[in-house]
Amino acid sequence: MVMARAENGRLAVLAASILAVAHPVGCRGSCPGPTAPVPEAEGPACGRAQEIYKIDAHAHIRQDATARALSLMDAWGIRTAINVSGGSNENVELSTEVEGETGGRIRFFCNIDFDDWDTDVFAETAVASLERCARMGGLGLKIFKGLGLGLAYKDGTLAPVDDPVFDPIFEKAGELGMPVLIHSGDPKAFFEPPDRDNERYDELSEHPSWSFHGDDYPSWEQVYKQFENRVGHHPKTTFIGAHFGNNPEDPERVFKMIEDYPNFYADTAARVPEIGRFDPVRMKELMTVHQDRILFGTDLGISVKYLALGSGPPYKPTKKQIQRFFTATYRYFETDDRQFDHPTPIQGRWKIDGIDLDCDVLEKIYHANVERLLRLEGP
Ligand SMILES: [Zn+2]
Repeated sequence: MVMARAENGRLAVLAASILAVAHPVGCRGSCPGPTAPVPEAEGPACGRAQEIYKIDAHAHIRQDATARALSLMDAWGIRTAINVSGGSNENVELSTEVEGETGGRIRFFCNIDFDDWDTDVFAETAVASLERCARMGGLGLKIFKGLGLGLAYKDGTLAPVDDPVFDPIFEKAGELGMPVLIHSGDPKAFFEPPDRDNERYDELSEHPSWSFHGDDYPSWEQVYKQFENRVGHHPKTTFIGAHFGNNPEDPERVFKMIEDYPNFYADTAARVPEIGRFDPVRMKELMTVHQDRILFGTDLGISVKYLALGSGPPYKPTKKQIQRFFTATYRYFETDDRQFDHPTPIQGRWKIDGIDLDCDVLEKIYHANVERLLRLEGP
């Protein structure tokens, strides 16, 4: 029953409730008639999980792909999506138009143009661009992983995430009340040799440039420390650690950071495959204790030409692959099913366990937390 609802939505809920009437649990084992499956007495924690609307706190939606985004959102219960690729400078106008056209169903975060970052005027220009974007409706700021793994000084050394050069941007975001969604580092496997023994070999084979192995890059741990310093350095700025706090392989450490920094939140974007490997009972416990600090996100990449389901390829996924992405994601949060296929096949050859969150916790993670953080209105 749990699976049926997760995969087929309200129809299955209806079918299950009809079954429940026909074969009340009390007569289990002694009911006359066909050998129809008898619904479990307990069921999942939340009998109406499919009716809880979602806000996707982390999506990438090209401004010309609004129709495609809305049709996916409608099909999978996502009321609002936050496009964290809202743009900087002239792109922001397009994001504002999308917000208007969709009646606010697609909102956006601002980005910073880092092209001339190693110049004297950079910080001032970036702050002005952020202020302008905020005036145009930008709800937050997204910082990409290039900070820490891509922006290099003229001598070739990489600028660390906690480089003081960038302080004014993070301070300004706090002043403007804009949460900063920050992606620092990447899966730990991307820092290991990209050979057949690498647990992300499939993904690294498809995207060789995603490897950060070798002397040209800092270690995963160094980047994580820089990121933690960044969060600690701006107590008045709210940070959302992308991809499960940038450390989905070690949820205990993410929750420790949540405890240590009142300004720190984590989203789940594209990391259900990772966190789904963690002990489900402990995960439920931790998510329940810190239920106000976790945000649901998908990391969907939507354009007219491609659709990335947490990673790529497939950029032209089949209906079945799309269905797997969403059903496995919801099944993870809503059921106690064990050892099922995770949403994004390329992200590791293992199975995951559901964490069966309680109804009120689901409400917070699926939408209430991000509504509070971004001051969004409910339906
Ligand atoms: Zn993303």
